Amino acid sequence: MRIALFGREGKVGRALIPALEAAGHEVHGLEVGEPVEIAGFDAAVDFTAPEAAPENVRTALEQGVSCIVGTTGWDPQPLGELARERGLVLFHAPNFAIGAVLMMRFAADAAAYLPRAEIIELHNEAKKDAPSGTAKATAARIPGGAVIHSVRLPGLVAHQEVLLGGEGELLTIRHDTFAREAFAPGVLLALERLRELPPGLTLGLEAVL
Ligand code: NAP
Repeated sequence: MRIALFGREGKVGRALIPALEAAGHEVHGLEVGEPVEIAGFDAAVDFTAPEAAPENVRTALEQGVSCIVGTTGWDPQPLGELARERGLVLFHAPNFAIGAVLMMRFAADAAAYLPRAEIIELHNEAKKDAPSGTAKATAARIPGGAVIHSVRLPGLVAHQEVLLGGEGELLTIRHDTFAREAFAPGVLLALERLRELPPGLTLGLEAVL
């Protein structure tokens, strides 16, 4: 596929380019302020910043290109409407790491039996939004919700613990992302399935797993 990548120089963008190319895709990387002329591309992928993603997605959709977005900290609903009107897909996942999606699923399963839960999410200090999109999505799947604690420190990549307490017991479900290459298989999966998705917004990697 011919893919436009917003955030070419970012930590995730730099890890994605070789993975997408190794899978046979042609990647056209874009950075801040570059003119965007991507009509005819098969997809746009965005890993930028919450201030940048909405404009990038709008531009891509207006040029007739479906989008796969990992940037967190913004609301994709209104642009999902634009995508639907144009017969295009806006796929947004707060976490493209397959293990993290499983962690959310296991936490939701466990919360049916141990509903008192709290979440600790730990990310690199450069992450602009808190709490993380993954922590919010996990909390939304726990009956009664869950308090989220956010840690931002150098040395971290993306980590999350879900603590589920019962009388005299504690269940801890933890996922660690050690390198940004962890996000590539999820992005590749979304690209593979893009044409099968209905027009409009699809949320979460689970939709394509
Ligand atoms: P990063 O290292 O800060 O990279 C962001 C990239 O976007 C940089 O190249 C940056 O360019 C560019 N950018 C920033 N503002 C921009 C603007 N206004 N217009 C165009 N480009 C702009 O961040 P990252 O760690 O790669 O993460 C990017 C986003 O993905 C964050 O929202 C993060 O939370 C999210 N994320 C999601 C997942 C997931 O699985 N869904 C995984 C990891 C990260 P400059 O360097 O020139 O500013």
